[in-house]
Formats: sequence, structure tokens, C-alpha cells
Amino acid sequence: MIKTKGYAAPTAGARLEPFSFDRRDVGARDVLIEIQYCGVCHSDIHQVRDEWGGSIYPMVPGHEIVGRVARVGAEVSKFAEGDHAGVGCFVDSCRTCRNCRDGEEQYCENHLVPTYNGTEKDEKTPTYGGYSTRIVVDEDYALRIPSSLPLQNAAPLLCAGITTYAPLRRFKVGEGQRVGVVGLGGLGHMGVKLAASMGARVTVFSTSPGKEQDARKLGADDFVVTREPGWSEALAGRYDFVLDCVSAPHDINAYLGLLRREGALALVGAPEKPLEVAAFSLITNGRTLAGSMIGGIRETQEMLDYCADKGISSDVELIPVQKIEEAYERTVRGDVRYRFVIDVASLKGE
Ligand code: NAP
Ligand code: ZN
Ligand code: ZN
Repeated sequence: MIKTKGYAAPTAGARLEPFSFDRRDVGARDVLIEIQYCGVCHSDIHQVRDEWGGSIYPMVPGHEIVGRVARVGAEVSKFAEGDHAGVGCFVDSCRTCRNCRDGEEQYCENHLVPTYNGTEKDEKTPTYGGYSTRIVVDEDYALRIPSSLPLQNAAPLLCAGITTYAPLRRFKVGEGQRVGVVGLGGLGHMGVKLAASMGARVTVFSTSPGKEQDARKLGADDFVVTREPGWSEALAGRYDFVLDCVSAPHDINAYLGLLRREGALALVGAPEKPLEVAAFSLITNGRTLAGSMIGGIRETQEMLDYCADKGISSDVELIPVQKIEEAYERTVRGDVRYRFVIDVASLKGE
């Protein structure tokens, strides 16, 4: 067993506190990663506060993990000691179902092993995430972090990056298209960078007027404040694709109304309450409402290599783990520019 220090929520909604636990020994196909940085995703907050139900405690959150490979098992071929490696939202899956075989492990039909707030394949050992000093993971579920990407800015790619990249690819976003990104937070700011890099003309739809300058710097051509009723009227039917990254209940009909004929809105935000969809929001213009969850290992690696090639990474605010409650509060208020990332060195003294 490998002694590990982390930060955990002891019960639903409680403050995170220091927590010591063991990682498994490094098996033949495992890599041991000394974690250096871990992004703070809004999904961490939803789960710590049990907003989706079924949370398991104590919970060590964190699924935007990057660090240095410290040890490799005898059969490992993808990594060597000293490499930069990353772990995203899951650490194993059944490997045999149709979705696993298709490389879409995130939709495993049998047992997806989430990085935290779930169980290993034995269905009883809890998994613990990246607000911790080290992690042991099967090499098939670890990602190579290209050396040109600054490590702390690369961490959020493991969730925010792939979650926005996958639907942009699936709906073939590219040159000449008009794309809307709703909610300029961790996911949204990656959605803007990626869609712009693919050649789309991007509009940010935001409740925060103060984010306009940033939106433009990130690559947006237009910025629309959605606070006043009627904001969407002049824009109806103008967009090919909309990526909805909002973390809280909101009126999705207004955004569906932006779509032109056969346009699609992909929902990646995961509010705790159901959204109400008016039939005419979809019937009009033959629109599609889709959902998307992170991405498979193969596509996550493709996204990392794409980001390295294009020089894209996340805008981050580095925090010591001791500031996590403040980071959660600011994220919930929409006051995030644009991803908090924990400097795991801050855990050493705990
Ligand atoms: P985040 O950084 O907190 O960003 C969410 C943004 O939504 C905020 O910055 C804000 O942007 C906007 N917003 C917040 N409350 C709002 C409200 N009441 N009405 C309208 N807009 C509001 O969160 P994140 O980490 O990007 O995650 C976003 C959502 O995606 C979360 O629900 C998360 O759980 C989910 N998620 C899903 C997946 C997946 O696989 N599908 C993966 C990761 C995360 P403005 O200030 O610009 O309005
Ligand atoms: Zn996430
Ligand atoms: Zn499977």
C-alpha cells in the first residue's frame, strides 16, 4: 500500500479536511503518478454537496489530474519514469462492452470506474480523486501530457477540455459556422478557445457583463449578456451549434431558439434540477437537443495532442488546497477566471 495525503469531504456539504489513505501497490500494468496539479471542476462541487444524489463519503474529489510518473509496472509500455501523465474522470471500465470497444469508455454499459465518488471493479473499494499527493492507475486509463503544454494549465484539459472538444467534433464544428457558448466558466472558456481554433465564429452568452473583454481575448467574436428578458429575439435562428455549459437551472428554450434549421444544442452542463423544454423550441427549424459526457481515452489523447499542436491550454488561478472552500464559493458565484487549480505541493505539510 502507498501512503497518500488528500483533502476529503467527510459528509455531504461539509468543509473539506485533511484525510490520509492508501493507494494500491503498483501492479504490472499500473503507473504511479506523483500529482502536481489538480483542477477544480464544478462537478466536484455538485458531488461534494450531493446535488446529484448517491454521493459516497469520505470523498476526495478531483478528476483533472496531472503529474510526474514516479514508478511503472513491469508490463507498462506507454510511460516511463519522469514522464508527464494525466488522469481524467474515470480510471477503468469493463473493456468488453460495445461502448468500451468503440473507445467510448465513458459510456461503459457495465461498470465505469469513476476517478472518485465510485467504486473499483470489485464494486466495494471506494475510489479517491486528485485532491491528493499520488494516484495509481492502469496505463490504459492514463493520458500522455505533451511536454510543450504547461502542466498547471494542462490539468483542466482532462475534464473541461475533453468535455467541450468531443461535442464540437461530433457536430463537426468548423469554418464558416456560427457557434454559441453559454456560460463562461471552466468548460465555457475551453469551448470558446476550441471552437475558435476550429474556425467557427463564436458568441459567448453570459450572465456576467464583466467577462466581455476576457471572452474576446479567449477568441470570441461576439458577447451577449443574457440578464434582460428579450435578449435573444434579434438572434433567433442564426446559429449552427450551441454548447450549453451552465451549471445551474436556466431557460434552455431561449438558447434552442438561437438555432437555424437542423441546428443542434449540446448540453454539457449538469444542473441538479430538470430543465423544461417547450416542444416548439425543437419542432421549429427541426432542431436537435443532444447531451455529451466527457470523452473516451482515445479522443482525450487526441484532444491533448491537438491542444499541444495549437498552443491551447486553460486559463487558471493556482490555489493551495487550504483555499478550496473559497474557490468553491467563487465558482458557484460565477467568479472564476477560468479554472481554479490546486497546487498539490500545498498538501505536503498537512
Ligand atoms: P463553472 O466554471 O462554474 O461555470 C459555469 C458557468 O455557468 C458560470 O461561470 C456562469 O457563467 C454560468 N452560470 C452559473 N450559474 C448560472 C445561472 N444560474 N444562470 C445562467 N448561467 C449561470 O462550471 P464548469 O466546471 O464549467 O461546469 C459547468 C457544468 O458542466 C457543471 O454543471 C458541471 O457539473 C458540468 N460538467 C459536465 C461534464 C460532462 O461530461 N457533461 C463535465 C464537466 C462538468 P457566466 O458568468 O458567463 O454566466
Ligand atoms: Zn469535471
Ligand atoms: Zn464497458
